[in-house]
Amino acid sequence: MFAATVLTLYPEMFPGPLGLSLAGRGLREERWSLETVQIRDFATDRHRSVDDTPAGGGAGMVLRADVLAAACDHVGYDRPMLAMTPRGAPLTQARVRELAAGPGVSILCGRFEGFDERLFEGRSIEPVSIGDYVLSGGEMGALVTLDACVRLIPGVMGAASSGDEESFESGILEYPQYTRPVEWEGRTIPEVLRSGDHARIAAWRKHMAETDTRLRRPDLWERHSGVRVGSPSGAQRKDWDEQT
Ligand code: SAH
Repeated sequence: MFAATVLTLYPEMFPGPLGLSLAGRGLREERWSLETVQIRDFATDRHRSVDDTPAGGGAGMVLRADVLAAACDHVGYDRPMLAMTPRGAPLTQARVRELAAGPGVSILCGRFEGFDERLFEGRSIEPVSIGDYVLSGGEMGALVTLDACVRLIPGVMGAASSGDEESFESGILEYPQYTRPVEWEGRTIPEVLRSGDHARIAAWRKHMAETDTRLRRPDLWERHSGVRVGSPSGAQRKDWDEQT
């Protein structure tokens, strides 16, 4: 079973949204487990302090390496130990897939100005970021990471989550989706999707996935296609009709 442990100063934040919907049902059905560890329980002084002022000066407080390491050592390193930090490697669907296929994950959540850097030198902990913005704490990042993993566990979401056409699975965005009503505010579902012609539908979806990726995520497109968007050899926008 996929076992998750979250090391946090705010264990009350869990399972939070992961207790609802499909993730919550999976938790109740014991398809995955979630446990929290209160970092403060590993403080050693009589004030139970977990942080101190930044060396070299500056605003805020820094989480102490000794307290964090004691909490991490208590959990152990049988499973990957992640630390949430904007200084980490951006989380990807590929990493999420690896984690979901393994025994589980431990996630260390920062607060204040983050972690004493020596923690990463002294322990094997993988710094992970959920995006290029700053949160007030790592708990939201842990929830995001776990949500992404848990939906891939067999039996939690069913076949839908294993689709290799989903965004990022093939390195690009998914094609746009539509459902009834066929007409809404004068806009109709693209005719091709109503044609029943599976080959044409597949070709349209591929075209749209590629076009939208190129326009919205030139970074992904460049990696996927090897073509720099905006370079002379880069594909120009083509309408679907021109292609067929
Ligand atoms: N001073 C730090 C930010 C601290 S934010 C810096 O500039 O790098 C407080 C905590 O929120 C962090 O320790 C981390 O656990 C969490 N956090 C903030 N932004 C995050 C992000 N993009 N991804 C993952 N965790 C994040």
